[in-house]
Amino acid sequence: MFFIGIFGVNQTEKPIGTYNNTICPNCGALTRLELYKRYTYFHLFFIPTFKWNLQYYAKSGCCDSIFELDPTIGAQYEKGFNPDIRAEHLHPLVQFEPFKTCPHCHRKVEPEFNYCPYCGQKC
Ligand SMILES: [Zn+2]
Ligand SMILES: [Zn+2]
Repeated sequence: MFFIGIFGVNQTEKPIGTYNNTICPNCGALTRLELYKRYTYFHLFFIPTFKWNLQYYAKSGCCDSIFELDPTIGAQYEKGFNPDIRAEHLHPLVQFEPFKTCPHCHRKVEPEFNYCPYCGQKC
């Protein structure tokens, strides 16, 4: 079901469910995946340009990694078929890392800091 705006660019992301007791392909923990579906569309007033893109994503509860989920599996899940989601269906997209690591003391530092608050070195 696509909601169409009057004009502009819209991106919709909506949770479609969770998948429990699976192994995280990134860190190997027994985890829970949160599944999302995302679609983007461009609708320019007076210009009949209309594109859309449907993708499925999974976010791991353990390390916040984001994976692109195989669209066939995503569609099956959405229809309630309860497919097996295995590592081969998950393609790492962003290894979500909210912090950078100080190259001197290897502690986690807020990304906007230029100097490490722990050791005072530039990072
Ligand atoms: Zn993980
Ligand atoms: Zn440091």
